[in-house]
Amino acid sequence: MQNIIEELLVPETNKGLFYGGAFHAASQPGEIVVMNPAKGIRFTTVPDASPQDVAAAVAAARTAFPGWSGLDAFDRSKHLRAFAEVVRDNIPLLAILESTVTGRSLREMTAQMGRIPEWLEYFAGIALGLEGESNVVKGGYVTLTQYEPLGPVALLTPWNHPVLILIKKLAAALAAGNTCVIKPSELAPVSPLAIAVLAKQAGLPDGVVNVVTGGPATGAALCAADDIHYIDLTGGTDTGRKVASVAGQRLIKSTLELGGKTPVVVCEDAEIDAAVAGVLFAAFVASGQTCVAGSRILVHSQIYDTFVQRLAARADQIELGDPMKDSTQMGPVISQAALERCHRFIATAHSEGGRQVAGTQALEMPSEFAKGYYIRPTVFADVRPDHQLFQEEVFGPVISITRFETDDQAIALANTGDFGLGVSIWSRDIARAHRLSRHIRGGIIWLNDHHRNDPRSVWGGVKDSGFGKENGWDALRGYLSKKSVVIRTEPGYDDWFAGSNRYG
Ligand code: NAD
Repeated sequence: MQNIIEELLVPETNKGLFYGGAFHAASQPGEIVVMNPAKGIRFTTVPDASPQDVAAAVAAARTAFPGWSGLDAFDRSKHLRAFAEVVRDNIPLLAILESTVTGRSLREMTAQMGRIPEWLEYFAGIALGLEGESNVVKGGYVTLTQYEPLGPVALLTPWNHPVLILIKKLAAALAAGNTCVIKPSELAPVSPLAIAVLAKQAGLPDGVVNVVTGGPATGAALCAADDIHYIDLTGGTDTGRKVASVAGQRLIKSTLELGGKTPVVVCEDAEIDAAVAGVLFAAFVASGQTCVAGSRILVHSQIYDTFVQRLAARADQIELGDPMKDSTQMGPVISQAALERCHRFIATAHSEGGRQVAGTQALEMPSEFAKGYYIRPTVFADVRPDHQLFQEEVFGPVISITRFETDDQAIALANTGDFGLGVSIWSRDIARAHRLSRHIRGGIIWLNDHHRNDPRSVWGGVKDSGFGKENGWDALRGYLSKKSVVIRTEPGYDDWFAGSNRYG
């Protein structure tokens, strides 16, 4: 049997929607075109699932739910470890598929795919340690708590880390005993289909992992499906508001991992070269297309000029090119629309008085990549807080640098706007770094580093960056409801209407 990833890597392979353990043709003719962003050419298509297709996938998840949720935790855990092994065997191919569809360099995707099995193994492990509590309470009662899975759940994922973000959600959802219907981004839907097939190959029962491809309408149909009991979205803040309002109407739980405008505070006592390396990674990994992209760099005036000069020089050395080549350090952005959005930010930054210090050289790509969506790492210095580049999420490799004099100024600048996701602070004075971290709004703060992600390290935002958590015990518990059982241990019974005076 040919490996599913090798099959999906063949251009124009459209195998259909994956639910109930098999591929199915969609019930309506439309297709979603998936591009190769490095070449600016069409790669393949996937079905545009209709509400009927969504209903069929949700029905498959519903059918599988009693069996999967009824398994002993040890058996579910064995399934997840087997899934991790199958993913591990496929890391090199998964990296090529991710790189083809997202344009991200193979070096990046190989490093990222190498860690994917850890999420499955981690949640397989902690699910075994999930324990309820028991209390003896007033009046002769014993209470105990039990965790229960929620049912079929919807996982709505973005295109920037198609496999990583999916597995963060999937591992927790499955370990908790839920079955899943995944709606991947329309821009990068291919590797999630591969993941569902790998789950089946690992022995997970049919219907436990299902994928419907399509755009926002498919996602909306999934959120509205009666048998969906939880929605876990990673996406933009506007999408988050829509999804939260559907979940609110339906009174089901949701987790929203949304946008950000991550501040990076570089104090004058920071190790400058470490901070420069950290900012380069924060700003330009994934071509700046991460929710925690360090995009608003705040630098103390004592080291401002040195920092700007070193960062600009390093940014201009980043090698763009064929994502599959070992020497390539940065690929394109995801789409023509994303490229144009970056160019609009650059034009506005110039018109508002920003000083471009990196990314000014002409872009010369080999002919095969001439139509790719490439843009140089772009850095503007002297950006003011009222500038568009300071305020809005670009989701591309265009960043701003702003000067500060005092910690209070750094805090005020970092807290500008309504996002609250990632923050990084660079200082050798650990007390000062802690003080800053207490006053800067964010869900994830890195001190002297940036964008570190681990299954054990809780991830999530506040305010316009969303709510709910990925990673850690919080993610597992998010996928469960806690039931309280109250047991009477006193002999006899109470009869309130015959004069008993016990209440409560
Ligand atoms: P997006 O909001 O356009 O799409 C996310 C997913 O939601 C896609 O699958 C999309 O089809 C679906 N969707 C869109 N409208 C919907 C609707 N009305 N109902 C149901 N589903 C709908 O986001 P994107 O462009 O794929 O990703 C980029 C955004 O994601 C950025 O803002 C980025 O900051 C954010 N992001 C956040 C995190 C995090 O951890 N907080 C991580 C990665 C990306």
